[in-house]
Amino acid sequence: MTRRRRAPFVAGNWKMNLGLREAADLSRKIVEARASVPEATLVLIPPYTALAAVAGAIAGSDVGLGAQDLYWEKQGAFTGEVSGPMLRDAGCGYVLVGHSERRQLFGETDETVGRKTRAALESGLTPIVCVGEVLEERDAGRALERIDAQLAKGLGGLSKGDLSCIVIAYEPVWAIGTGRTATPVQAEEVHAHIRQWIADSYGNEAAACAIILYGGSVKPANSYPLFRENDIDGFLVGGASLDAGGFIGIVGEALRAHREEK
Ligand code: PEP
Repeated sequence: MTRRRRAPFVAGNWKMNLGLREAADLSRKIVEARASVPEATLVLIPPYTALAAVAGAIAGSDVGLGAQDLYWEKQGAFTGEVSGPMLRDAGCGYVLVGHSERRQLFGETDETVGRKTRAALESGLTPIVCVGEVLEERDAGRALERIDAQLAKGLGGLSKGDLSCIVIAYEPVWAIGTGRTATPVQAEEVHAHIRQWIADSYGNEAAACAIILYGGSVKPANSYPLFRENDIDGFLVGGASLDAGGFIGIVGEALRAHREEK
């Protein structure tokens, strides 16, 4: 499929890390360094407790804010949960849905991912829907089959109208926090498959518009070759996003690949 490549989209998932002062400091450093990577889209995804501090630190910049999860109901007796409208109120434009840690540690299923994706879109948030196979599935040659199932349910039976520009993060579970990255060829195979799946389900326009991120031990040293692949539009970064130099280094290397393509 021919499409114009856009500049990298890079989101930092801070997971359950950083207190208020550290979160604000890191955000300020990223806002300062943002001038060196002006074309890229940057999104910071702190824990809920730091959303307000990060929103304050990035105010006036074009760095985006996201949350790590949401609940599908808007309000009510759901102790411990946070809804889409609440995240909008807190300044979020994005929300992760179905991160593998939510799936593996907190019982998230493809069905709940679908409900959350719909709830995010209804609240005006852009969901970053995470998919990815575990090592046994890859070794058994069932990675693409698993991704298809996650997409079918994770996009929650959305209609063409519901879906404009979706963000999908392909994160092979065996590469998250392990230091082991998918090779550019391995990642591109799945990214191209995801884009084709979107084309088959939602049409070529949706597929061309979709932003498909790679996640799994991304660092400055591997972002350049990964971003050179046709269907890798950016990254969802965990560990390396906790350091401003590492995060901006990843963006800078992807941008270098993007500029070379022009
Ligand atoms: C993630 O948690 O989404 C992730 C990709 O983590 P890491 O970069 O640390 O592998």
